[in-house]
Amino acid sequence: MTSVDEFQAEARQWIAANKAHAPRDYGAICPPDLVEQGLDWHRRVHAAGFAGIHWPAEFGGRGLSADHNAAWQYECALAGVPSIFNMVGLVLAGQAIQKFGTPEQKALHLAATLDTTHVWCQLFSEPGAGSDLGGLSTKAERDGDHFVVNGQKVWCSGGRYSNWGILMARTNAEAKKHDGISFFLCPMDLPGIEVRPLKQMTGEAEFDEVFFTDVQLPADCLLGPLHGGWGVGMAVLTNERGHIGTSVIGLERRLEAMAKLAEGRELEPTDRQRLARLMSTGTAFKAMAQRQGPIASTAASLMKLGITEMMFESAMLRADIAGPEAMLDGPESFGMLQAPGGRIAGGTSQVQRNIIGERLLGLPREPKG
Ligand SMILES: Cc1cc2nc3c(=O)[nH]c(=O)nc-3n(C[C@H](O)[C@H](O)[C@H](O)COP(=O)(O)OP(=O)(O)OC[C@H]3O[C@@H](n4cnc5c(N)ncnc54)[C@H](O)[C@@H]3O)c2cc1C
Repeated sequence: MTSVDEFQAEARQWIAANKAHAPRDYGAICPPDLVEQGLDWHRRVHAAGFAGIHWPAEFGGRGLSADHNAAWQYECALAGVPSIFNMVGLVLAGQAIQKFGTPEQKALHLAATLDTTHVWCQLFSEPGAGSDLGGLSTKAERDGDHFVVNGQKVWCSGGRYSNWGILMARTNAEAKKHDGISFFLCPMDLPGIEVRPLKQMTGEAEFDEVFFTDVQLPADCLLGPLHGGWGVGMAVLTNERGHIGTSVIGLERRLEAMAKLAEGRELEPTDRQRLARLMSTGTAFKAMAQRQGPIASTAASLMKLGITEMMFESAMLRADIAGPEAMLDGPESFGMLQAPGGRIAGGTSQVQRNIIGERLLGLPREPKG
């Protein structure tokens, strides 16, 4: 196997030669206005062998290790280019299908996800079920060779440009709430699925509401055991938090940029202290990420919480340092409006604190109302 160092040098060289084709680094989810550019970039990445780096070769991957994949993420973050187009496809759906999929599901989806023939969105949250995802009420009722799906999903990033969705729905209304849920791979073009954009406070519309009305979902779209979708969903969310945590390198670059912003300015002593605190906390998180390695685990909650809280604080500090100009339309005001979303996506900061308290620190469980 190519060593991580050799692979990293290869990746660095390739990125330097191809960087001009990359869209700006959009983070985990490509916004709708960059989709064409993002797809074009991903196809180049894929053709060069940098998509699915740690996926087995039989599924179209390169068969290398998670460390090789982390080296790719690192080089992309250093160069300020996106590492992949479809995080929900490559990180969430792809890894769930590898773990829980039938041979037919693997053959249908995995290579097609790597080359973006299949682009995925995540259909978990509902108006009445976000943090408490186990309370979801979208129903999937078995009827012959299909399930009939009715309900509403919300905050679906990239729903408009995705042709497949990972869907959690209730298949047994009688069972205890976590036991009656199943996990599906859902084609987005089925009759009865309606996708409506939602505008957020940045002025952009990266999310969608998705309505299901008597949608006939083929029974072979079930992933994992019937009524056993909670376990599949939790594995997916742990991967998502782990992935959000890898943006530590991106954060380091932001901190570097912020340190430059302070250069040649007379900073308020309190801002100087905030800056120094962020820089040192950022460095500590980087060290923790390196120690933890690239594998998603419960510690992913720790990284997710730490990184997104720091991104929020750094956006606020950046605006304070910029002064009144930050109130005008520009990168500082956009950063302030966008930053709160990171503390909510993939499980809110409060929920991460509950997970850390209960599962990592062994504190008593949260009382259930
Ligand atoms: C940028 C972004 C992208 C997203 N993309 C997707 C997507 O693609 N697909 C998808 O399905 N969802 C997506 N979401 C939705 C996201 O998963 C939910 O918003 C999140 O899980 C919180 O759920 P909620 O919005 O219903 O808030 P609620 O769960 O109603 O929470 C409201 C408040 O109560 C707090 N709270 C709730 N429960 C507890 C508790 N037990 N202890 C302490 N505090 C608590 C929360 O922290 C929060 O402050 C996205 C969200 C964002 C911001």
